Amino acid sequence: MRIANCDGRLVLVDGNRLLDVQTAGGGRFGADPQSVYESWDDFRDWAAGRPAGEWMLLDPARLGPPAPRPRQVFAVALNYRDHAEEAGLEVPAHPSIFTKFPSCIAGPNDGIRLSTDRADWEVELVAVIGARAHRVAEGQAWEHIAGLTVGQDISERRVQFRPPNPQFSLGKSFPTFGPIGPVLVTPDELPDPDDLEIRCSVNGEEMQRSLTGNLIFPVPKLVAELSAILQLLPGDLIFTGTPSGVGSSRDPRVYLKPGDVIVSEIAGIGRMSNRCVADEA
Ligand code: ZN
Repeated sequence: MRIANCDGRLVLVDGNRLLDVQTAGGGRFGADPQSVYESWDDFRDWAAGRPAGEWMLLDPARLGPPAPRPRQVFAVALNYRDHAEEAGLEVPAHPSIFTKFPSCIAGPNDGIRLSTDRADWEVELVAVIGARAHRVAEGQAWEHIAGLTVGQDISERRVQFRPPNPQFSLGKSFPTFGPIGPVLVTPDELPDPDDLEIRCSVNGEEMQRSLTGNLIFPVPKLVAELSAILQLLPGDLIFTGTPSGVGSSRDPRVYLKPGDVIVSEIAGIGRMSNRCVADEA
């Protein structure tokens, strides 16, 4: 199953067509895409019954974030071996977690608002929680995931590494610094949800390419590690980390500037295209 947020309304997606969930379900499910994660199992069963309704043509330009208002947004530093190596850091024993504050979430076509000259790209697989998870073992972790989507963990490197202590959560939480989309795909739709090709290009030049099979801590391990400590809530996001090829690790370093177009893609899920724009103060 694939779902999306079209003009702020929850829709089922099948190829290039969509079905409005609130209308097709006669009000059984609300129009707000964020609310569906609260009744995910019920929704998934309903959708599996191939609900009748008026399927319309999907216009990708009208899609917003499939989880627009998560209560918690987790992200992982250094979760691909190649990215750890380019950053000159040891592979950690436990994931290094920070948060992207939820007000940074944006859609798959939204502009990335740049207020400085130190913003960088980080394409990432994003897992969306479908059932409350607390002290969940790796083997049961996928049962708590609604699905997967594409994300960009846009990062302002000056704030991120500002002394005396790094400020990852602030540097990665400027408005629009967390675009996700274009759709949410349930794990059963993917041949192997733990091994997907992930790519990022800027202005048509490929900057990042890897497989999520190269994650040091895959999605089930992240759910186990996080839920050992805290509660993962329906609709929460986990940005799982980025592969090598970010701008700040290049020689010479490259940062995003107004007019740049970031294309982020994961095989089997889809592609986002975000244009950078100047954020006038
Ligand atoms: Zn990241």
